[in-house]
Amino acid sequence: MSYEAVIGLEVHAQMLTDTKIFCGCPTTFGAEPNTQTCPVCIGMPGVLPVLNREALRFAIMTGLATHCRISPYSRFARKNYFYPDLPKGYQISQYELPLCEDGFIEISIDGQAKRIGITRIHLEEDAGKNIHEGAGNWSLVDLNRAGVPLMEIVSEPDIRSPREAVEYMQKLRTILRYLGVCDGNMEEGSLRCDANVSVRRSGETAFGTRTEIKNINSFRFVEKALEYEIKRQIREIDSGRRILQETRLWNAEKGVTEPMRGKEEAHDYRYFPEPDLVPIVVPKEWIDEIRASLPEFPDAKKERFLSEYRLPVHDANLLVSEKALADWFEEAVNLGGQPKAVANWMMGELMRLLNEDDVPIERCPLAPRYLVEMLALLENGTISGKIAKAVFEDMYRTGKRPDAIIREKGLVQISDVGEIEQAVTDVLSKHPHEVSRFRAGEEKLLGFFVGQVMKMTKGKANPQKVNELLKEKLSSGT
Ligand code: ADP
Ligand code: MG
Ligand code: ZN
Repeated sequence: MSYEAVIGLEVHAQMLTDTKIFCGCPTTFGAEPNTQTCPVCIGMPGVLPVLNREALRFAIMTGLATHCRISPYSRFARKNYFYPDLPKGYQISQYELPLCEDGFIEISIDGQAKRIGITRIHLEEDAGKNIHEGAGNWSLVDLNRAGVPLMEIVSEPDIRSPREAVEYMQKLRTILRYLGVCDGNMEEGSLRCDANVSVRRSGETAFGTRTEIKNINSFRFVEKALEYEIKRQIREIDSGRRILQETRLWNAEKGVTEPMRGKEEAHDYRYFPEPDLVPIVVPKEWIDEIRASLPEFPDAKKERFLSEYRLPVHDANLLVSEKALADWFEEAVNLGGQPKAVANWMMGELMRLLNEDDVPIERCPLAPRYLVEMLALLENGTISGKIAKAVFEDMYRTGKRPDAIIREKGLVQISDVGEIEQAVTDVLSKHPHEVSRFRAGEEKLLGFFVGQVMKMTKGKANPQKVNELLKEKLSSGT
């Protein structure tokens, strides 16, 4: 019997606002515990929340970018539950009237486009953090995160495999990063995902009972946790058991999902409208203004890179994966860099160095115009391809211009025939044995001679000239 998986994701994205959602406390990550708090976000009685306009704008941007309808009228609700990291005893969230509804994100699976529906996007506040550390029999609570603005992005159960789930998450992350509304850092928890999954026999139209997996903090774990859970559910059904609707936890160490608690229902939370906040009424003009300010999105950018710069699909995909990468590329091209050459240097040397140093492209120490200058020097024969690599790394490390590096280090390519000829003659007279072997037909030795000449000239000889001269001398027999 074959089965099909049905998956829906609930993604929480921490927004990159400077301040919290209902008070003016800063949102900086990693500050000393409980230094970014005030009476509002630690839930003192008698305080009143005030909505952060920027958080609302960010959520509207996200709604528009994911083709949602922006509700002209939405409202906050209290979600009641008790937990030490939630000082008020309720979380301010949205319930029956969310800000955004009925959108979609398009993903690509084996070159096929597929739409994953977005049920809703709503605003809510984050909770604090319990810390179970130290020798004593206690837990500590850090409320710096309490009140940090979150968006909850709920997908329709349109996802059919762990791979599709990862594609969807990655696409969503790219969109959030393009918008600049969330940094998408899963390890630091600024992008979190709960995965709902059920299985059904192929051909069946009704959904099976689902479980919800929490605690997934990387793309790899999204895939692993879902793969595990799908197999587990199939095994349960095949052995005649029922799936319990429950919340499970991903245990990354063991690579398994484990039961955490029975699934809570909406009525367990005793939702009711938040009386301390007025309903959100978004004027149409504001929505239009936000729509007009949206950046070009990755799919559109990719199409443009393909047609405008004639890049291969692979290059275009990679360059549009981060807005900052695409911007770096276009800046270089606008300064006169040949598109494919710029792409090659970015995907090769630049990515290698950035990865090595674990530096994001946003903090790339190399300015696009230096690459363009270097490409010109390569083009006009001042430096060889091999030297260019060294110059590139030097520019990246020191921030110096390519011509300065070339001058200081004496890296100008030797194109002077006399000088190369001298080196060629020297090499041939040093290796009479190889010369006779070459002349006896062992032509692959040409590479050896080229290598020797390059070594003698410290890589500065123009390789094309070296080849020409070697062939000439070896065949003429002088
Ligand atoms: P809750 O409020 O209990 O979390 P929702 O109805 O809001 O439940 O759904 C949460 C998520 O679960 C959504 O992403 C939805 O697509 C997904 N989902 C709902 N039913 C199923 C199912 N049978 N199998 C897999 N996913 C499901
Ligand atoms: Mg839920
Ligand atoms: Zn505060």
